[in-house]
Amino acid sequence: MPQDTTIYWDGEGQLPPLIDSLPLQQQKAILHRIHDHKWDEHYSNPMDLAPGFVVLAIFILFFSIAAIRSNKKTSSESDDNNILPGNDNLYPEGVQFANAVHTYRGSELNFSLPEMSRILQKHSAYYNGLNPFDKEKFIQRTRKFITQISFVIHDKSGFKEMPVLISAAAIQLTFGLEKFLLPDFDYIHIYPEEFIGVHPTVRVLEGNVSGNTINLSWKHFLHGFQCPDDGQNVGLHEMAHAYYYQFFETGRQADKNFVAAFPAFNNYGNKVFQQEAIPGFDLYSDYALKNFQEFWAESIEIFFEKPATLRTHYPDLYNTICTLLSQYPNAKT
Ligand SMILES: [Zn+2]
Repeated sequence: MPQDTTIYWDGEGQLPPLIDSLPLQQQKAILHRIHDHKWDEHYSNPMDLAPGFVVLAIFILFFSIAAIRSNKKTSSESDDNNILPGNDNLYPEGVQFANAVHTYRGSELNFSLPEMSRILQKHSAYYNGLNPFDKEKFIQRTRKFITQISFVIHDKSGFKEMPVLISAAAIQLTFGLEKFLLPDFDYIHIYPEEFIGVHPTVRVLEGNVSGNTINLSWKHFLHGFQCPDDGQNVGLHEMAHAYYYQFFETGRQADKNFVAAFPAFNNYGNKVFQQEAIPGFDLYSDYALKNFQEFWAESIEIFFEKPATLRTHYPDLYNTICTLLSQYPNAKT
């Protein structure tokens, strides 16, 4: 994927392609410490790593500057453009960024129904495929999801599309379920492009779930919505990790249907996992075969983006995911 363009807006001139809304107003927010250490991640495609290393070099430079700056600041110092009390506290695992940070509490965003509807219509093929009754339900759920999350944007400007579409990815995944919230996730961090994780090793990421925090590259996230049938959607991928964490690791507000059907997914999934490791079977990426969590997350991407292919190759697995999520994507061949 070429990385020489940015969809992010620098605050001057034309809005980036795909984005209609004006930047979000900066709003006051208080960040709490995040103290989870579970680490799960989605690497950039290895094919992207060559240009990614250029980005990496630049970020390491920024990181060094930020580290020097944070050493100079006292812990009580505050700054309108960088309201973090100290990056060390926020990211004990060591992810660091140098851009300005803006935090928007979802409960204060108050998007109107027409605004949300317009954004979803423009970007979400899934939403556009719903009947009017379900569209209304989709918007109500998305609104509710937004109110429970703080969106931390690591750049100069943020857009209404960010909270709306990221929440819409969560609602798409859980649309057939009774429970659709992530009460243990307080923050979603949004970076303009690939970002750098430095623990346990330095690497380029386009999304990851670290404990109860979701991190996303906005560029890659939007690409997932732009191409709804290429089998890649980093938003759905990270949400798959997040809901697994919510429903199984915390056990709080777990969806009964999801939990009850997961053993069947484990069963059929393990067979497919082993089969996909054989040369010649390549519906899944090598990354998905790294471990079963990645296999789960990529299964969700394929389920929504290539349902007919999944059904043809692995009908049992396809049917199991339909049951697990209580929804049936259009899988006509
Ligand atoms: Zn992953």
